[in-house]
Amino acid sequence: MSDCLFCKIIKNEIPSKIVYRDDLVTAFWDIHPQTPVHILIVPNQHIAGAAELTPAHAETLAAMFVAANAIAAEHGVAQSGYRLTINQGPDSGQAVFHLHLHLFGGKRMSDRRG
Ligand code: 5GP
Ligand code: ZN
Repeated sequence: MSDCLFCKIIKNEIPSKIVYRDDLVTAFWDIHPQTPVHILIVPNQHIAGAAELTPAHAETLAAMFVAANAIAAEHGVAQSGYRLTINQGPDSGQAVFHLHLHLFGGKRMSDRRG
């Protein structure tokens, strides 16, 4: 999608700190990290949010979680633990309408949010 921020990051049209890339997903540091490790894992295909997911996205969705496992290990939080969050729609505060999995880690999280 031409006017989508994360599509531009995926295509390297906007700089970001990319930590992982494969055929299905790209992952990069959040520009305003909320925790010592805060990485966004996104499908390379434009999907506006979790509410748009269908069974056809199963492989992509699995790839996002498999990538999260590898990224957690690479950033030293696999044992200490981490949180995976997807915001969907206005009440969640979703700000970017390209599906993304937040990986939060590196500190003890005291509440149930990121
Ligand atoms: P949401 O609230 O939609 O779940 O999260 C969007 C996330 O994208 C936020 O945590 C925000 O800091 C991050 N973000 C917004 N703009 C940029 C950007 O240009 N580059 C990067 N790397 N992250 C961004
Ligand atoms: Zn997009």
